[in-house]
Amino acid sequence: MNAEDGQILPPGSVIGILGGGQLGRMSALAAGRLGYKVHIFSPEKDGPAAQVSWRNTVAAYDDLAALEAFAQSVDVVTFEFENIPAAAAEILARLKPTRPSPSVLHISQERLREKRFLESIGVPVTAFREVTGAADLPAAVDALGTPSILKSASFGYDGKGQVRIEAGMDLQEAWARMGGTIAILEGFIDFDCEISVIVARNPAGEIALYEPARNSHKHHILDTSTVPAGVSVKVAHAAEAIARRIAGEIDLIGLLAVEMFVTKDGRVLVNELAPRPHNSGHWSQDGAVTSQFEQHVRAVCGLGLGNPARHSDTVMTNLIGDEVESWPQLLADPDVKLHLYGKTEARPGRKMGHWNKLTPKS
Ligand code: AMP
Repeated sequence: MNAEDGQILPPGSVIGILGGGQLGRMSALAAGRLGYKVHIFSPEKDGPAAQVSWRNTVAAYDDLAALEAFAQSVDVVTFEFENIPAAAAEILARLKPTRPSPSVLHISQERLREKRFLESIGVPVTAFREVTGAADLPAAVDALGTPSILKSASFGYDGKGQVRIEAGMDLQEAWARMGGTIAILEGFIDFDCEISVIVARNPAGEIALYEPARNSHKHHILDTSTVPAGVSVKVAHAAEAIARRIAGEIDLIGLLAVEMFVTKDGRVLVNELAPRPHNSGHWSQDGAVTSQFEQHVRAVCGLGLGNPARHSDTVMTNLIGDEVESWPQLLADPDVKLHLYGKTEARPGRKMGHWNKLTPKS
């Protein structure tokens, strides 16, 4: 049975997930708990998701024949990784309900497109300029001032493909270091904090919002997410209203993470979108009534959404590279919930797991 709009995909059905990393793993575990089967499509053999899934296809994201066979074998398609070729998303969507839709992926795959979409629906973003080559850069830097941040327009994450532009810097060299072909220059935000809101929306248009999490980074990689975020009620409401608006305007089915800056004068600006479960939502596995992963499954299968409310204050901390070796000490704390991803090699900068520390709700 297929999950046509308005139709509930019952437990026992097969959810196809593109991407085989930890987000796919945790989605598959949540799906399994609700009685669904998961088929993972990933170029990587024996990755985190493949270890816990019902079926696996190991193939490249541009292997259209493999994608077609995959789509034929599942009831609904979703993602844990959004940077797949447009042609791949279109093939999948032609064959099976694909949630979120290719148009949501298209918007979130490229920073310029994403920023322009957000502007078009009246959502505040950082000041930016398109930069199509080193020759454009001086005018853009003049317009936005220094410091500013040069970011490759596509396929960047965890601070990769980014260069901070300072006054007097060699702009040719900065362009080369960024490494992209099309870029965006963003005005530097001297922010008070970074927060994110995860929003889920099902085919009936029902929306569930997680409260904002406060995010801190180490070497450009998410280090901790804390709820409650400790922002004012006004900021929290603004952030939630933004996430709700985007989910409706983009016609989301599934999950969307909205990363935002809170400025020192209390404004909320969107930095970027990710149309999938997100690292900053991992606190919800142990601190909320319904985890983001269960919510993802519910949304793409057309079920009613669960309660996203926090029942415990939670600090989520990532285990990067060999930090994973601290697992025995973490397990010794009875208020820590440990999540490991089954990765064998602890390379520097690699997300190996995370832990949630729970305290009674404030
Ligand atoms: P991104 O890849 O866009 O999420 O950027 C990675 C990190 O760089 C963000 O989480 C911020 O800490 C920082 N950053 C990105 N853009 C800006 C900006 N316009 N102003 C200040 N900091 C930024």
